[in-house]
Amino acid sequence: MTIKFAKRMDNLKASEIRELLKLTEKPEIISFAGGLPAPELFPVEEMKRVAEEVLEESGMQALQYSPTEGYTPLREKIAKRMETIGIKAVAEDILITSGSQQGLDFTGKIFLDEGDLVVCESPSYLGAINAFKGYLPEFVEVTTDDEGMDMEELEKVLSTKKKVKFIYVIPDFQNPTGKTWSVERRKKLIELANKYDVPVIEDNPYGELRFEGTRPPAVKSFDTEGRVVFLGTFSKTFCPGLRVGWTLAEKDLLEKYIFVKQGADLQTNTMAQREINKFLDIYDLDQHIEKIKDVYRKRRNIMMEGIKLHFPQNLKYTYPEGGLFTWVELPAEVDARKVLEKAIEVNVAFVPGGSFFPNGGNENTLRLNYSNMSEEKIQIGIERLGRVLKEML
Ligand code: PMP
Repeated sequence: MTIKFAKRMDNLKASEIRELLKLTEKPEIISFAGGLPAPELFPVEEMKRVAEEVLEESGMQALQYSPTEGYTPLREKIAKRMETIGIKAVAEDILITSGSQQGLDFTGKIFLDEGDLVVCESPSYLGAINAFKGYLPEFVEVTTDDEGMDMEELEKVLSTKKKVKFIYVIPDFQNPTGKTWSVERRKKLIELANKYDVPVIEDNPYGELRFEGTRPPAVKSFDTEGRVVFLGTFSKTFCPGLRVGWTLAEKDLLEKYIFVKQGADLQTNTMAQREINKFLDIYDLDQHIEKIKDVYRKRRNIMMEGIKLHFPQNLKYTYPEGGLFTWVELPAEVDARKVLEKAIEVNVAFVPGGSFFPNGGNENTLRLNYSNMSEEKIQIGIERLGRVLKEML
């Protein structure tokens, strides 16, 4: 039998991160590869009480089908939380999704025909690139520095290319670079999006994990024309296993997401939504986030001190003020995949940065995650990686 797959499958191959995550299952590996939260911080005991109370109080509803839009009390609470980053919203502006990843897939489905253009940061989140690829677009990468996208370059793209369907950005502690956009660039992005009449997708899973400084207002907070779709998630502030995220958008846009959600899976897990809502009722999520931040801040510190101490001098790297990742640029001629091969020999893993560039190149970069390993393992792993780098450079 010759199986004929859809054309979109030509574009999709196993993600490097997924392949690497398989390696991290070996206990001897010190992995800076994934983007996993620290599991010891998951509120397991609290969730036992939460699950019991949900089933006790509303077991029949919790195990039943529920509205596509999501559980209204949870949507109300999310809307309220959005105020802290300058977004005025009510429950009706929010669709609960199965993680923000589902919001990314829906974005592709809603906006992209074959050959359309997605404008994104260079580099960008691999999971989004892969989700969009299923809809056969082309990617236009815009150079990104410590303050966000280069706005002159963005304007050049928007003024010359006709098939741009949306601009995709991760403005807070970006995956993979750990960088955060300045307020000026956020405003300018909206100015250009308005001028060239393009939607903006603001993907923000990490903004709440800020270790120091103040959180800038969301890009969405500057949106006066309802052109920004904001994607949020409980994956990094609570736990990814429940798969609860949200899409926040103006009515006509959100309707499209709701319509597509119906076709995809009818609704997000009712029990999971009610559990998170119950947790928010009886516990203090912000207090929980403070605990996460205390742990990640220390791990970030250990990693950054280790890099300074053990990596070859004059490498460029991000000092992230929050989130889960730092990003290292090696000399142009060094291939991070080769470095990974050597690193694995000493039981250390990371993600070579090349796969975060949808149009390829930039093989001299790498992403390091500091949220998932203990301080001791970070120390040992960075020292080993430093040795590998010094041998190779
Ligand atoms: N966007 C970005 C930038 C991410 O890093 C991730 C998770 N790695 C997601 C979206 C998806 O997260 P989730 O589906 O768990 O909400």
